[in-house]
Amino acid sequence: AALYRIDGWGAPYFSVNSSGNVTVRPHGSGTMDHQEIDLLKVVKKASDPKSSGGLELPLPLIIRFPDVLKNRLESIQSAFNCAVESQGYGSHYQGVYPVKCNQDRFVVEDIVKFGSSFRFGLEAGSKPELLLAMSCLCKGSSESLLICNGFKDAEYISLALIARKLSLNTVIVLEQEEELDSVIDMSRKLGVLPVVGIRAKLRTKHSGHFGSTSGEKGKFGLTTTQILRVVKKLEKYGMLDCLQLLHFHIGSQIPSTALLADGVGEAAQIYSELVRLGASMKVIDIGGGLGIDYDGSKSTDSDVSVGYTLEEYAAAVVQAVKFVCDRKSVKHPVICSESGRAIVSHHSILIFEAVSRSKYTVPTLSSFDVQQFGEQLPEEAHSYYHNLSQSAIRGDYESCLVYADQLKQRCVEKFKDGSLDIEQLAGVDGLCDLVGKAIGASDPVSTYHINLSVFTSIPDFWGIGQLFPILPIHRLEECPSKKGILSDLTCDSDGKIDKFIGGDSSLPLHELEGKYYLGMFLGGAYEEALGGVHNLFGGPSLIRVSQSDGPHGFAVTRAVAGPSCSEVLRLMQHEPEVMFETLKHRIEEYVDDEGGMAGALMAGGIAESFHNMPYLTVASSCCLTAAN
Ligand code: PLP
Repeated sequence: AALYRIDGWGAPYFSVNSSGNVTVRPHGSGTMDHQEIDLLKVVKKASDPKSSGGLELPLPLIIRFPDVLKNRLESIQSAFNCAVESQGYGSHYQGVYPVKCNQDRFVVEDIVKFGSSFRFGLEAGSKPELLLAMSCLCKGSSESLLICNGFKDAEYISLALIARKLSLNTVIVLEQEEELDSVIDMSRKLGVLPVVGIRAKLRTKHSGHFGSTSGEKGKFGLTTTQILRVVKKLEKYGMLDCLQLLHFHIGSQIPSTALLADGVGEAAQIYSELVRLGASMKVIDIGGGLGIDYDGSKSTDSDVSVGYTLEEYAAAVVQAVKFVCDRKSVKHPVICSESGRAIVSHHSILIFEAVSRSKYTVPTLSSFDVQQFGEQLPEEAHSYYHNLSQSAIRGDYESCLVYADQLKQRCVEKFKDGSLDIEQLAGVDGLCDLVGKAIGASDPVSTYHINLSVFTSIPDFWGIGQLFPILPIHRLEECPSKKGILSDLTCDSDGKIDKFIGGDSSLPLHELEGKYYLGMFLGGAYEEALGGVHNLFGGPSLIRVSQSDGPHGFAVTRAVAGPSCSEVLRLMQHEPEVMFETLKHRIEEYVDDEGGMAGALMAGGIAESFHNMPYLTVASSCCLTAAN
């Protein structure tokens, strides 16, 4: 487990049991009355046809733990409650979940349900997100905020006003100055008084990857000049009372509380100025950015880690707002945050299989006829070969590597111009590998082929190099004997994972013996929503798992197979029924068999392929180590 740093990124939810399997404690560490869930048993139950009562879902598989979501929400709320209480802050914390992080119906419904006792709300950034937030919040607390961010047209604004009319606590946050005209116009037409917020473009800039939208030149928000014009216009229309919220978002994965406090302090100054100018300010909305420690390093200078705890984050926010408001004698506002990543990342685990490992055997010295090899080399390569042999005799290993490399380059050139045959080229490759192995410079890394699409399931790795913890979910009592990179099913050279947390370029892995399951952790935010259909691989199968009193300590409360080939084809406007008929006619035309048996078999095979998921069907094996 130490190899994969689980204790660093996994606490308090993930650890390893004495059988060497990853376990999940959905309620976090403080609850010893709940037994740990063995992840391998969950995977077997979901996918293994031999498992009693098994669901036979094809992999890849997303396993969701709603209790982890509950624990994340409660932990954030309690961190802020503590900060408010210990600092004598005069108002409260009331968060919203930005649905863009994972719009899955059950994720959003769970968040509304788990958060309603502490007025947790939702944030939407587009019309469909607003529609889903409106309908979900009908089941939440009437005080929960519904924050409307993103670029808005008249239709978006009228939807938000309708939401207000429906007694949902809706705030239209101006992302662009022009939106104000529409808000004034539509609110008059619909006879609804809006609650308006302003998104401020702060000067504070987050320099990490996720900070490109922050700072004065950032993509979003209003400049100070624009904010002043909005105040003037609202005043002119007698609507300054409607301005009640100030919002900003420095960027995701804020690395340190120092940067956070800087941004919150700047925003609190703007907030206080808006109070001075006569707005009825009530809420400061500090956006998202509460980070996740993906590699467990607690570092402040990396995109994959953060140097603070939830408690330190909350304390820094409350302190920064309080400090400014106290100096300006401004009533403490309600503090809202839009944490997405920090709420949903932990609750879902992506499980996939390694199906094969490419093996390359370095030739042994005894199997290699060095003398004959040298004689067969073309004239132009002789000097490189001679240099290589001489440095080997002298024991100058560094030069050996240099000359081996030169020899190889020269021989590749000769192969390209047609003067070296393929056996000679293979001989040169073998010799160079032999040299690397003999002097200990080669560190063989295998390629493990995984039944997954990186583009569909880990798009942030492909798009922005985001690293997630990946490890085998079983056999962890056994020392891994190999190093591997992961190569996916797509016909695309980018479809591989060759960077891992800790800066490693390979992952310690085991020899493949029977089923070998890997898990990608902390990917519950953004990955599902961003994933594409490259090579027409659709999303994984999905189950929801809760703790129960049964023999294994868990129950599967929902199970859905991933999209079939037909469903994925339909996304690209193909019509599977028409395609099938076309292929059936072709069978009738070309397959001339008596009694039609062969044709029927072929049509059956094609129909099954339309029906199945696009991933590899991997034969089930008896080699799973966990007892069912
Ligand atoms: N709010 C806004 C306006 C955002 O743009 C984002 C994401 O970038 C978030 C909230 C969520 O951020 P995070 O997932 O870092 O908490």
